[in-house]
Amino acid sequence: MLGNPRSHGLWEKTAPVAPATSILDEQLLADVVVVGAGYTGMSAALHLAETGLSVIILEAVEAGFGGAGRNVGLINGGMWVMPDDVPKVLGAEHGERALQQLGQAPLLVREVIEKHRIECELETNGTLHLAVGAQGLQELRDRHRQWAARGAPVQLLDAEETARRVGSSAYAGALFDPRAGTLQPLAYARGLAHAALHAGAKLFTSSAVIDARKQGEDWLVETARGSVSCQWVIVATDAYSTGPWKRVRQEQVHLPYFNFATKPLSDNLRRSVLPHREGCWDTKEVLSSFRMDQAGRLVFGSVGALRNSGAAVHRAWAKRSLKRLFPQLGTLEFEAEWYGHIGMTNDAVPRFHRFDSQVVGFSGYNGRGIAPGTTFGKTLADLVLGKISEEQLPLPLSEPEAVSFRAVKEAYYEMGAQIAHLTENRF
Ligand SMILES: Cc1cc2nc3c(=O)[nH]c(=O)nc-3n(C[C@H](O)[C@H](O)[C@H](O)COP(=O)(O)OP(=O)(O)OC[C@H]3O[C@@H](n4cnc5c(N)ncnc54)[C@H](O)[C@@H]3O)c2cc1C
Repeated sequence: MLGNPRSHGLWEKTAPVAPATSILDEQLLADVVVVGAGYTGMSAALHLAETGLSVIILEAVEAGFGGAGRNVGLINGGMWVMPDDVPKVLGAEHGERALQQLGQAPLLVREVIEKHRIECELETNGTLHLAVGAQGLQELRDRHRQWAARGAPVQLLDAEETARRVGSSAYAGALFDPRAGTLQPLAYARGLAHAALHAGAKLFTSSAVIDARKQGEDWLVETARGSVSCQWVIVATDAYSTGPWKRVRQEQVHLPYFNFATKPLSDNLRRSVLPHREGCWDTKEVLSSFRMDQAGRLVFGSVGALRNSGAAVHRAWAKRSLKRLFPQLGTLEFEAEWYGHIGMTNDAVPRFHRFDSQVVGFSGYNGRGIAPGTTFGKTLADLVLGKISEEQLPLPLSEPEAVSFRAVKEAYYEMGAQIAHLTENRF
């Protein structure tokens, strides 16, 4: 996108085409304006349009330009934070409600995909959170106990079973989550866009919102060449936020994350590496993730930005790491490489904001946005429709709070990842 092969990489090569859209260059009326065509915005728009409301989505670039078109494609059933810590951060009522909703969110993704026949390489064979060493295994034992206490069907696998499923003996065990899975993230974003349009929503691309102000009872939402008058505004711009809701960006520290995709593996290798195609990530502090795409490419990623010296450092690390994990792969060439920014909040849980009267949004997904964005987008639709009140949301209302030393922290993450990858797996 925007002529940059390192922004959406493999996903742009293999996703079905985006719907035909245009730039907003007129004055329109709508019940709801949704700002941002990622998972949150398009799920909200789809669920609103299905009830007959008039919905206009305004997107700065194109559907899936943000995290939605760049991510690993793991459809997770929870957050990074340990389940028992969620109620500590959000309060008991919201915390347990959020965990329940997020636990069911992969099922909602599946239902949306099936209902709207979205072609996005959906795999429903679960995910494996992989234990690195005794400490990693202890973390997974704790996660297993905490999820199981909430009725989640997660399973702790021993080292032998993990090696059989992964095709590598590098791990001390794994937490298998059968609720989860993988998909082609940009294909899902574009499929949601098609579904929202089919339900009656309008989508304008290359139409960044630059201002929003009250006009009588309504909101006037402006782009460079047009405007929309509406009753409600849903802000769904998350880590790629620009325009009037800068506070969303200011409360997040950007964590860069890259992916490399191999060429399609031979049938023989595909029987040995992730034969059941689970999505995987590990317990290391500078974590790694890997998964297969439908054509049998191994997509391997970690923390870091593919710019300046980072591109060469992370590429060399990825080759060394894959060789150590999967010696059977032999010499590897990558077919695509790309990276994006994950919006991290200071307590690693997302936020619900009411920016003004009838201006609301969820953001701050901390690297978990496919299932959460889909379900929280639907929740925003329910809020606008009056089906639920703010008190019934899965997250409490919070004010955007600027993170101190944000630029320093972001530089630290980017450099820290390079230093870690320069030294790891050399010997
Ligand atoms: C490299 C990477 C790996 C990740 N891996 C995973 C994973 O495996 N699993 C998972 O669940 N999550 C993952 N995530 C996180 C996930 O991608 C995000 O949480 C998710 O995309 C958030 O969805 P969203 O719709 O809220 O925001 P986004 O998808 O970021 O969409 C926001 C949209 O708003 C638009 N926008 C911004 N400002 C304006 C404006 N002023 N006017 C109009 N439009 C505007 C942007 O252009 C963008 O298209 C990953 C993220 C990255 C970057």
